[in-house]
Amino acid sequence: MEIDRRLFIKSGIASLAGGCLAAQDMEPGKKPAKESNPDYVGCLVDTTVCIGCRKCEEACNRQNNLPKPELPFTDKRVFREKRRPSVAAYTVVNQYPGRPSPDQRQVKDTFCKVQCMHCLKPACVSACIVGALVKAADGSVIYNPDICIGCRYCMLACPFEIPAYEYNEALKPRITKCEFCTDRVKKTGANPACAAACPTEALLFGHRSKLLQMAKARVKDRPDRYVDYIYGENEVGGTAWLYMTGRPHVELDLIALQTAAPPELTESIQHSVYKFGAIPLALYGALAGVMWYIRRSRRLKENQENPDNPPGENSPGAKKDPTLKAQGEQS
Ligand code: SF4
Ligand code: SF4
Ligand code: SF4
Repeated sequence: MEIDRRLFIKSGIASLAGGCLAAQDMEPGKKPAKESNPDYVGCLVDTTVCIGCRKCEEACNRQNNLPKPELPFTDKRVFREKRRPSVAAYTVVNQYPGRPSPDQRQVKDTFCKVQCMHCLKPACVSACIVGALVKAADGSVIYNPDICIGCRYCMLACPFEIPAYEYNEALKPRITKCEFCTDRVKKTGANPACAAACPTEALLFGHRSKLLQMAKARVKDRPDRYVDYIYGENEVGGTAWLYMTGRPHVELDLIALQTAAPPELTESIQHSVYKFGAIPLALYGALAGVMWYIRRSRRLKENQENPDNPPGENSPGAKKDPTLKAQGEQS
């Protein structure tokens, strides 16, 4: 299954690159966070009441001092194509055309906001080899540009493909993404700017555990309105942003993901490796294995295409002749 394969590759990156920071809370060495930490914050998105006004986008832009967009926030032409968060917009709203529904659940257009999901077990944190991305005590996944070395492993590891990179910034390019308005929330006690700006309460900020309860109660009360599924409850180990929808979530590009967090998929291998303090050995060993495999495959292919070639180091029956090896490397 393609999604599983993609997630496995991402989990490999998260595991190999992130090493000992795998799926943990804040600093290296700290114990893994409890799965349902009651202190973790969250945001409940009710897509059935979102009207696509983009006030959330505008508020996010202002809060984070982002560049003025080409089209004003009131311009609906942006809905002509699907957008993703970028260095210029940490959140975007997309429109999904309505469709007839036999059960009359939802036939109207639906709008869906996208941003960092603030995963409970963030692959980006696991993948960051220098600890520039960390999971804070309130569950927000935050970024420290002063530590970042620009390797972009976090971009490869994120199952939601959220982090963006300032490629046009020559001197000190940064990774960019939603940080859950951490400073604003901490300093002022206010809600994140997007949630505060939403006129329809499509965005509710609070403790994740409470929001989840509320969402389940709403779904139970209004089976005519909601699909019985809270997106983010379990995806990749759970996310701080939760979505209620009136149509199948995959129709809103809320992609189907497995419940295991990417770092967990390879965690058991890591644990046995770290136990013996052999992280670099494991990493280099894995890379050496990949290089050996590629070289061997290339050599076998060359031999098949040109059987007159002298046997190479990886050919069946090849002799360990250092001259042949040197010739092979020069060609
Ligand atoms: S959505 Fe991606 S960038 Fe955000 S916390 Fe999860 S893994 Fe990290
Ligand atoms: S929480 Fe803050 S940074 Fe994240 S999308 Fe909302 S306004 Fe933007
Ligand atoms: S501000 Fe609220 S209603 Fe408007 S687009 Fe954003 S989430 Fe939807």
